[in-house]
Amino acid sequence: MIIEMKTGTAREDVDSVVQRAESLGFEVQLNVGTDKTVVAILGGNTGQLPTDVFAVLPGVESVTRIMKPYKLSSREFKARDSRVSIGGVEVGGKRVVVMAGPCAVENEEQITAAAQAVKEAGAGILRGGAFKPRTSPFSFQGLEKAGLELLARVGEKFAIPVVTEVVDPHDVDMVATYADILQIGSRNMQNFALLTAVGKSKRPVVLKRGFSCTVTEWLTAADYLLAEGNNRVILCERGIRTFEDSIRFSLDISSVPIIKNVSHLPVIVDPSHAAGHYSLVPAIAKAAVAAGADGLLIEVHPNPKEALVDGLQSLTVSGFAKLMEELGAIAGAVGRHV
Ligand code: PEP
Ligand code: MN
Repeated sequence: MIIEMKTGTAREDVDSVVQRAESLGFEVQLNVGTDKTVVAILGGNTGQLPTDVFAVLPGVESVTRIMKPYKLSSREFKARDSRVSIGGVEVGGKRVVVMAGPCAVENEEQITAAAQAVKEAGAGILRGGAFKPRTSPFSFQGLEKAGLELLARVGEKFAIPVVTEVVDPHDVDMVATYADILQIGSRNMQNFALLTAVGKSKRPVVLKRGFSCTVTEWLTAADYLLAEGNNRVILCERGIRTFEDSIRFSLDISSVPIIKNVSHLPVIVDPSHAAGHYSLVPAIAKAAVAAGADGLLIEVHPNPKEALVDGLQSLTVSGFAKLMEELGAIAGAVGRHV
């Protein structure tokens, strides 16, 4: 249930709505906007609760039942677009923020070369995996803590914030000491213990869409982060499993405008993991920007032929620089820049 307070309502009136809800055993989240406050009533069975319980209270403008399973990520709760700031880089504004780098941190030379190249080409964030959730237990699993140390050091050297994946709830605090943004991978989108731990960390987070999950399930997963008071959530479309087998995953470009309609959260697109092949990445990346994505997550490797992970889908440094130029034109056409 969502309670919209009148413009300029006194704090006591908001407090009495909160107290009433809590006295009935419900949880509450506030969205204090510049002119309006919105109260979300969560938990328990709000379906049984008459809206009049709140409608009669002073300062209440409207009481709406949200029939969707997700609440805090919905536009009903927060009408204005959320923006997420990471060390001077803002996701969700006019700039289409490109996060780029290798799938995995492999060694100092590789991550240094990648950082320098992507920064020079105009990327705002450096990516690099230290914990790799691989489909097979026999594949390279990442450098783990040593990889985090390298990533953080190189990020600092080139003054570029870094994003890296966390796969275990027990590692969240440790990873957060090195990473500016925590990534939750597709295979972990519904790992609710991990979502709660990352929510508690209050670190900016990239929440990838589970490749077999609906938009509704994705936004409901985002509610786990928001419910812990972490409102710096960036969604990332990365392709879904369909009957189509000519591409690794089908990139669901329509999820971008759908998210924009129903949610206030920024959404970025990862063309690399959908494509599975470098030749497909530029077209999908450009389509994503045209569709309104707030950013991109792209795999770039200084030497894809030697990459330990995902070499086939990684762009070369020059391929990435060329794509960045082309993206500038697309972004300009939709009133944005890269
Ligand atoms: C990744 O970004 O390296 C990754 C493993 O992606 P996904 O979780 O989308 O498969
Ligand atoms: Mn990868």
